[in-house]
Amino acid sequence: MSATAAPTSPHVMNTYGRLPIALVRGQGCRVWDVNGKAYLDGLGGIAVNTLGHNHPELVPALQEQLTQLIHTSNYYYVPGQEVLAERLTALSGMTNAFFCCTGLEANEAAIKLARKFGHDKGIERPEIVVYEHAFHGRSLATLSATGNPKIQKGFGPLVEGFIRVPLNDIEALKKATEGNPNVVAVMFETIQGEGGIHPMRWDYLQQVRALCDTNDWLMMIDEIQTGIGRTGKWFAHQWAGIVPDVMSLAKGLGSGVPVGAVVAGPKAANIFQPGNHGTTFGGNPLAMRAGIETLRIMEKDGLLQNAADVGAHLKAALQAAFEGVAGVKEVRGQGLMLGIELDRPAGAVLTRACDAGLLLSVTADSVIRLVPPLVLTVAEADEIVALLAPIVKAFLAEPAQ
Ligand SMILES: *Cc1c(COP(=O)(O)O)cnc(C)c1O
Repeated sequence: MSATAAPTSPHVMNTYGRLPIALVRGQGCRVWDVNGKAYLDGLGGIAVNTLGHNHPELVPALQEQLTQLIHTSNYYYVPGQEVLAERLTALSGMTNAFFCCTGLEANEAAIKLARKFGHDKGIERPEIVVYEHAFHGRSLATLSATGNPKIQKGFGPLVEGFIRVPLNDIEALKKATEGNPNVVAVMFETIQGEGGIHPMRWDYLQQVRALCDTNDWLMMIDEIQTGIGRTGKWFAHQWAGIVPDVMSLAKGLGSGVPVGAVVAGPKAANIFQPGNHGTTFGGNPLAMRAGIETLRIMEKDGLLQNAADVGAHLKAALQAAFEGVAGVKEVRGQGLMLGIELDRPAGAVLTRACDAGLLLSVTADSVIRLVPPLVLTVAEADEIVALLAPIVKAFLAEPAQ
């Protein structure tokens, strides 16, 4: 392979449309490819690299942990689990956590919790309310909860027991569940990520909370992308001043080390008993150390405030850059979870930004998504706009394909 040849992976399954670069090194919000070309990281490993790359406190802590103990199994107590569970419950106002490795695994656990919550009440065929355009993962149950027929195609029969409703419409939710004694839970993202950066209204969230209380349903929030400080609060639902019964976490929790969690309040904390659920890797000492250090460093360095401040700056700068630009429908989102919706498929922006040295992603075909590390500086935010704005404007000025 010559120095500039496009990388290939002929022995890796063809599950992603990959960009033709291979990244080998990172520092802060910057990454480098095999050829030494630098990129500004507006994607953060899809909202994963909370602390950026090669963080000067995270890396030594993980190195120390590697030499002590990596994995033991859940047949024994893992002291780090209690430390991280104590932190997550204190930050969320909930009571207990279960640790796993990924987002879909956290949501699977949440779905099983809801079903057993129903069975414990004598409901034999429990049903869970989910949303149009939702994304909850790629396992069969979480894919079935996902509101995107395109990625469900080819994998039927899907798992039953889900009722789908539109976002931000309380009457539709009431109508879809009216007189149905089998409903056990409502499950949603506070800001839909893969669905195109669609926020739930805070007053709607409060109405759902009230409906869950009245009907004894579990309110289950998928904070996998929105949680861990991304929107400027520890968890995005905290903007609405409510506390869910179940919350799933993953992505940013381990700053790149796979860590997932389901956090539960009193209504759901004791549903699982020994034998009901498990995982081999979940909650191992290395993963717990990554989670503990991520939260500690975030708190010490004021990264919630940074996400709120730099996010607000970035959003305002993007809005100013695209003011009056035909083809840009909206700049939306909160903190460092932002979307720029175009009036056409935006795939070309992704490749051109990559060529120009900026990493980002496109969701729901036409929404340019920015979910950079939470250590992003104002100068780096300005650099994102300076790189992105001319690319988007030039693209929109071309005749539509
Ligand atoms: C990414 C994501 C998931 C799935 O997480 P994986 O770790 O890829 O399984 C689930 N829900 C939301 C909201 C996500 O953004």
